[in-house]
Amino acid sequence: MVINLCAIFQLSQFFYCVKIKTMNTSAKYEILKTFYGYDSFRDGQEALIDHLLAGQDVCGIMPTGAGKSLCYQVPGLVFDGITLVISPLISLMKDQVRALNQMGVHAAYLNSSLTFGQYKKALAFAREGRYKIIYVAPERLLTDEFLDFAIHAPIDLVAVDEAHCVSQWGQDFRPSYLKIPEFLSKLAHRPAVGAFTATATRTVREDIIRMLELCDPFTTVTGFDRQNLYFEVRHDKDKYKGIVNYLIKHRDQSGVIYCATRKNVEEVCEKLLSDGFAATRYHAGLSDQERQANQEAFTYDEAPIMVATNAFGMGIDKSNVRFVLHYNMPKNMESYYQEAGRAGRDGAKADCILFYSGQDVITNQFFIESDRENEELTGEALEQVRHQDRERLKKMTYYCHTTDCLRDYMLRYFGEYGSSYCGNCSNCLQSFETIDITQIANDLIGCTLTSGMRFGINTILDTLRGSKNDKIRRSDLDENHFYGSCCAETIVFLRQVCNHLIQNDYLTVTDDQYPILRVKEKGLTFFAQTGDFRPVLTMKAARKDGGTEADVSNRNAAGTHSPSAKTGKSSAASASPFETLRSLRTAIARKNHVPPYLVFSDKTLEAMCVMLPQTKEEMLTVPGVGELKFQKYGKEFLQVCRELAREDEF
Ligand code: ADP
Ligand code: MG
Repeated sequence: MVINLCAIFQLSQFFYCVKIKTMNTSAKYEILKTFYGYDSFRDGQEALIDHLLAGQDVCGIMPTGAGKSLCYQVPGLVFDGITLVISPLISLMKDQVRALNQMGVHAAYLNSSLTFGQYKKALAFAREGRYKIIYVAPERLLTDEFLDFAIHAPIDLVAVDEAHCVSQWGQDFRPSYLKIPEFLSKLAHRPAVGAFTATATRTVREDIIRMLELCDPFTTVTGFDRQNLYFEVRHDKDKYKGIVNYLIKHRDQSGVIYCATRKNVEEVCEKLLSDGFAATRYHAGLSDQERQANQEAFTYDEAPIMVATNAFGMGIDKSNVRFVLHYNMPKNMESYYQEAGRAGRDGAKADCILFYSGQDVITNQFFIESDRENEELTGEALEQVRHQDRERLKKMTYYCHTTDCLRDYMLRYFGEYGSSYCGNCSNCLQSFETIDITQIANDLIGCTLTSGMRFGINTILDTLRGSKNDKIRRSDLDENHFYGSCCAETIVFLRQVCNHLIQNDYLTVTDDQYPILRVKEKGLTFFAQTGDFRPVLTMKAARKDGGTEADVSNRNAAGTHSPSAKTGKSSAASASPFETLRSLRTAIARKNHVPPYLVFSDKTLEAMCVMLPQTKEEMLTVPGVGELKFQKYGKEFLQVCRELAREDEF
C-alpha cells in the first residue's frame, strides 16, 4: 500500500523534479562557497544532496561531525520553497538556527522555548515566506496552528534530524517521531524526506526507513573513522591528578569530562572549581533550569570544561570541543565512540582519552546485573540481554588493555577494516616504537659465540654492559671483544632484545638447571652477514622516555593550536597568532551574543594563521569564510592577519 502511494506520488512529482534538477546542479557549489565558505563536499554529502534535489527520499547515516546538516540545508537553500527540519532538542535547534543566521540565511525555530506570542509571530513570518529553513519540534507537527501553516506552505523538503529517535531500540526514543508520516500525509503535496542519524545499527536503520515511511530512499552509510581524533587509554593510579595535568597543558581549550555516576560528576566538578578551572556540570539529577544554564555556559565558552554523565549528549553541537576525557570507562564501545566522537566536530585535531581503572569494570558489572530498565523482559530474554551486555563490557575492557592500534580495534568492532597502525593513538604513537636493534643483536650473538656458549643470559648481559662483578673477572669476560659494548643501554632493555631474539629463533636457552644461552642457526647466519648483505633487525618496544604527556602536548602545539608556518619568527613572549585570532573571536562573539565557534570554527582560525590572508580575495579562500561571514567579521580578522604578517617580517 505504502509502495503504491509512493509510486503515484513519484509520478506526480516527475515534471516538478526535472525542473529543479536542471536548475540546480551548479547552485549547490555556489551555496557551499558563498554561505559556508567551503570548496568541496565531504564524503557522502553530495550524493545525498543530489537525490534530495531530485525530489527523492534519502537516509544518511554518518558519524557525528561528518556534516549531516549541510546535506539538507544546501538543498533547502537551492529549493524555492521552505525546508522543515524536525529536530528533537531545543538546544540543537537554537544552535543550528543561530549558525544559519550567522551565515546570512533566514531561519527560525518553533518549539516550546517560545512564548505563545513569539510563536504566533514566528508562524506569521513563516506564512509570509520570510524563512527558508524552519526547525520544528516533533510535538508541534500535528497541532492546529502548525498544520494550518504547513498545509498552505510551499514545503519542498522535510529533514528528520537525529532520525534514530523514531526507534524504540535506541536510547533516545521519542514517541512523537512516530507521528511524522501522519503529518506528511496531511500536506497538500508530499515533499522529499531526508532522514539523518549517526546510529549505525541495522535494527535502528531499518526502523527509520519503515517507521518514517520513506519511499525507496537513497541510503548512504559513510565510514566511521574520524582521523582528526587522537585516542588514548591511560591507567593512572590517581585519575584526578591525570586529568588535572592534562587540563593544565590545555588551559584555554574546551572539552567534556564524562563520569559514570552523578556522584562522580559532583566530586570532579567541585574539585576542578576549587583548583581554579572554569568547569560546570550536567546530569539528570539537576533541575531543568540548571542544566540549561550550564549547557549555555559551556556553549559560550564561559565554562569551557563540562563535567557530565552520559545524559549530556545529543544536545552538544559545539564544534570546538577539543577533548573528551573519560573519568570512567563506559559500558560498551558504542557508548564510548558516541561520547568520544563529540570531540573535534570542526575537523581540527582533538583528543579522546579514557582513564581506566579496574573499579570501572566492577561498577559496570553491577549496572548490568541490577538494570531494571527493561521491566517487560522476563527470565530468559532478560538473561539474554544481560549476556550481550556482559560481552560488550568485555570488549570495552579489552580496548583498555590492548597493545594494538586503538583505532583499528574500534573500527574492527564496528565491522570496518582499519590498518593495524594509524599513527594517531597512544598505542601507535607512544607506548610502542619500532627500533633498530641490528647492532645490539650483533653484540649479543657475538658475545655469546666468542665466550664459548657457556654462560647464562645474566652473565652475557652483564658483560655487554661492562660490569665489574666477580663472575665476569673470574671468567675473563672483561677481556671479551664485546665487553662494555652496550654500556649505554639498560639491563631491562637488553633483556627485551634478548627475549626478542629468542622468540625469533636467533638464540635459545637450554633446559638445564642453569640455563645456558646458545646461538641458533639463524643467529649464526645473521652474525656472518656483513655490510649490505646484513638485514636490518627491528623490534617494537615501549618508548624509553615512557612519555605520554610530553608527546601529546608537543603534538598539539605543533599540529593544532599554534600553526606557525609563516609565523615562526614572532617573539616567544607575545601571544601566538592563534591566540591573537582567538581573542578577537571571543571579543566579537561577546559583542554579538553568539557562541565563539559560530563566528569562525577553530579549524578556520588555524587555516587563517597558516595562510595569513592579506586581501579580501585571499580571505575568501580560507575554508569556512563565506561571502556573508566575510561581510560580518571579515574586515576585523583581515586587519589582524595583516598585523600578524607584518610582525612576521621582522
Ligand atoms: P553532524 O550533524 O553530522 O554531526 P554537522 O552538520 O554539525 O555534523 O557538521 C560538523 C561540522 O562540519 C560543522 O562545523 C560544519 O560546518 C563542518 N562541515 C560540514 N560540511 C563540510 C564540508 N563540506 N567542508 C568542510 N567542513 C564541513
Ligand atoms: Mg547533526
